[in-house]
Amino acid sequence: MPSQARRIEESVVTLVRPTGKTCQTSEQAVGPIRLQWRGADTARTPGVRGLTPADAAIPPAYLEMSEEHLRQRIERARTALGTDLVILGHHYQREEIIRHADFRGDSYKLSQLAANRRDARYIVFCGVHFMAESADILSAPHQQVILPNLEAGCSMANMAQPDDVEACWAELTGTIDARIVPVTYMNSAASLKAFCGRNGGLVCTSSNASAALRWALDRGDKVLFFPDQHLGRNTALRLGYRQDDMLIWSPRVPSGGHTVEELRAATFYLWLGWCSVHARFSTEQIRWARENHPGVRVIVHPECKREVVDAADEYGSTELIARRITESAPGSVWAVGTEINLVSRLERENPDKTVFCLDPVICPCSTMYRIHPGYLAWVLDRLAEGEVVNRIAVDAETTKWAKVALERMLQIA
Ligand code: SF4
Repeated sequence: MPSQARRIEESVVTLVRPTGKTCQTSEQAVGPIRLQWRGADTARTPGVRGLTPADAAIPPAYLEMSEEHLRQRIERARTALGTDLVILGHHYQREEIIRHADFRGDSYKLSQLAANRRDARYIVFCGVHFMAESADILSAPHQQVILPNLEAGCSMANMAQPDDVEACWAELTGTIDARIVPVTYMNSAASLKAFCGRNGGLVCTSSNASAALRWALDRGDKVLFFPDQHLGRNTALRLGYRQDDMLIWSPRVPSGGHTVEELRAATFYLWLGWCSVHARFSTEQIRWARENHPGVRVIVHPECKREVVDAADEYGSTELIARRITESAPGSVWAVGTEINLVSRLERENPDKTVFCLDPVICPCSTMYRIHPGYLAWVLDRLAEGEVVNRIAVDAETTKWAKVALERMLQIA
């Protein structure tokens, strides 16, 4: 008889991509991919990431139920909870989750929507950890935020650990005689948002990063930007700065890997972080799309590398990508550089257009993928029974300073 953990592990991912091509990101947890949940009776894929004790709390029965059974359980619990419940679904969630979402959008839009639903006592955030934290920061005291699977983190957010950022800050401010303003991407821990609030900085999203950098440089001489080097670089270049104005800060390396002179000369310190999903897109893929689809428009996310953003026709946030495609003329052809669940949804919802992913090896965000319908059914069943599981609660001090950084962002918006 397999252990409980093993049985859950086998059931978590049953994804097989028809072409047989496998995902090659550093987050290979999902292994081969199928974009539909197939239930526990399909062939299992080995190589799924190990489970933590928190995962093991879910009764294995939930991960052995068919998709239809889970769908019914989720809807039954939703009905029982009524307006006490709001379910948020990030654009990168799989279809089996998104169909249950009251709202879908990017992380900040969803947090704002949640903040406007004061009647809902429970906010179930189908996304990753930092998003649930942001929702908790912006929510009212009587609201509780729930992340269905506590293992759903963001590999990019994890690249900036609070201790490393504090050490970087101490070194920079102790070495450089200049005003440095910290700017964190929304994709970061609540403690880093609070760090920015305490130190005169702010939060930004991929929609308002240009305005955030301008705000920072109106108040300081230099910017420490984390955790995504690509968003920082692409935004600074767009503002007219040169590659020579920036350097990469490597955490846990003395002086981030630079001489004091280099640190003094730079305007932007870009954290050595990246998104494993968006780092996969390449100029070769764009070249292939243009050769094989005359008239194609290439649109990518600013978490892509500089050369990819340069080679694309447009770039912007997930909200902008969705809007551009949805509002384009019938017959338009779009090659998209962002997460596959969103691209597939845009393809389905725009049957009068051709929409495809730039990357032929379809690769979802594997951490987003950890929000399995079984986890959603489980947390909702528990809520309907009056028990809150997998709550994300940010402490009061962190909330206070993170709100300062978020409010600065709202003011520039
Ligand atoms: S797509 Fe990238 S940045 Fe977004 S949650 Fe996944 S790993 Fe994080």
